[in-house]
Amino acid sequence: MEQKEDKLKEVISHAKEYGFVFPSSEIYDGLAATYDYGQLGSELKNNIKSYWWKSMVQMHENIVGIDSAIFMHPTTWKASGHVDAFNDPLIDNKDSKKRYRADVLLEEHMEKIRLKIEKEVEKGVKRFGDDFDEHQFRATNPNVLRNAEKIKEIEDRMRTALETNDLEGVYQLIMDCEIVCPISGSRNWTEVRQFNLMFSTELGSVAGDASTIYLRPETAQGIFVNFLNVQKSGRMKIPFGIAQIGKAFRNEIVARQFIFRMREFEQMEMQFFCRPGEEMKWYEYWKDTRSKWHKALGLGDKQYRFHDHIKLAHYANAACDIEFNFPMGFKELEGIHSRTDFDLKQHEQFSGKKLQYFDPELNQNYVPFVVETSVGLDRMFLAVLSASHKNEVLEDGSERTVLSIPPALAPYKVAIMPLTKKDGLPEKAREIIDGLKFDFLCQYDEKDSIGKRYRRQDAIGTPFSVTVDHETLENNTVTVRDRDTMEQVRVNIADLHRMIDEKVSMRTLLV
Ligand code: ATP
Repeated sequence: MEQKEDKLKEVISHAKEYGFVFPSSEIYDGLAATYDYGQLGSELKNNIKSYWWKSMVQMHENIVGIDSAIFMHPTTWKASGHVDAFNDPLIDNKDSKKRYRADVLLEEHMEKIRLKIEKEVEKGVKRFGDDFDEHQFRATNPNVLRNAEKIKEIEDRMRTALETNDLEGVYQLIMDCEIVCPISGSRNWTEVRQFNLMFSTELGSVAGDASTIYLRPETAQGIFVNFLNVQKSGRMKIPFGIAQIGKAFRNEIVARQFIFRMREFEQMEMQFFCRPGEEMKWYEYWKDTRSKWHKALGLGDKQYRFHDHIKLAHYANAACDIEFNFPMGFKELEGIHSRTDFDLKQHEQFSGKKLQYFDPELNQNYVPFVVETSVGLDRMFLAVLSASHKNEVLEDGSERTVLSIPPALAPYKVAIMPLTKKDGLPEKAREIIDGLKFDFLCQYDEKDSIGKRYRRQDAIGTPFSVTVDHETLENNTVTVRDRDTMEQVRVNIADLHRMIDEKVSMRTLLV
């Protein structure tokens, strides 16, 4: 556990040191759970966006992209259910004055009991050695059974209480489990209250309910309300999708774990409209397609797993998460939801407008069903950064920190380094950059020894470093060093463009 926390800390400090992510408004001591993307971070983020957009929009004839406003008519959020149901149950500890999500406190309590079970199993392994039958042990050991029963009871009570909005029941469960505040160690809790996660603000200069508007908590609703606009103006035929990348805001009770859970974040969402009855086929299609998209990055297939939702949101008839093995363990990276016709029907009802499609093949009008894919851009960023960050010991015993970012996503694609600052080498280096800069982000670096310069490029994930030396002036060849293999080859300047392109083009991921 400690090791995992160390890994996250290392990634956070590397991200800051090299200009990927800074704490927001740091000169004022920062703002909780708010971060700014620096000069390299915004490049990486743009490249992730571009990978998603190309794959979803450009590679799918029947998907188009939009960019809707963050502010939306307030009724949107009544229709979507966010005004009434986008709540988390919160509880305060009166001694530490710390605020918690009641369901998270209970989850963590259950996790502790789960750990007790695992310890009991470990003891069994030690005691019985090769003869140990884990399955049998779990099914019969009285301590294991007692604890499993405890978990089940807490889970059942929690589910019932949350589903029926029985906040007293949630409070009672916390008391019955004798959960203490991790800070004060006391059981001096307030009652449990519902807390709406939407940020609200006033439109213009008039105060009051009528002018209260919200910062969107998801980008999806901007797609639903534009369903007919896009379908008609783009002459779209079902099945088709609408994609969008944009900011979303949630007043999370406990925002933490770096950019994993923030109050202002970015989503990349796609709503796929299909015929009623065909949603399961498309749900499976998108599970498969999205899983391939992630795995094509080469961060390791074992880093991902699917987690099917057992308790479905009221609008869904199937839902799962793609989880990633972050430094803090497997956690949700992307959600794939079959949302039925819930959203469009709600908007029909609240707006009084028909949001239907005339299907010429069926000769029939209907409200389409929707399958949604929704991935957090910041979580993708953290996945790429943490999986790429490696401390390596080299053959000669020296060490290097390298970001083996998939080349297509790397901020700089190539660094051009004159061996010395004189003899016309810098001029030659800049001439090479001029030939590459339209297609690739290049960095010019003439300071320090070549070895040090290589380390700097490793630490920011630049796939290629090109050295310009005296031989270059004679025969137009340069030394190209590969970030991952650290091998160096001599190539003609005329071949550089093709060589870089072959490795860093998005084509390497998309075909
Ligand atoms: P979680 O259970 O982690 O709160 P969620 O199930 O509420 O997430 P969705 O509503 O399905 O999340 O949102 C889709 C995606 O948006 C998530 O898979 C995640 O990648 C991203 N996301 C959601 N909340 C945040 C947040 N507070 N900070 C960063 N990314 C987020």
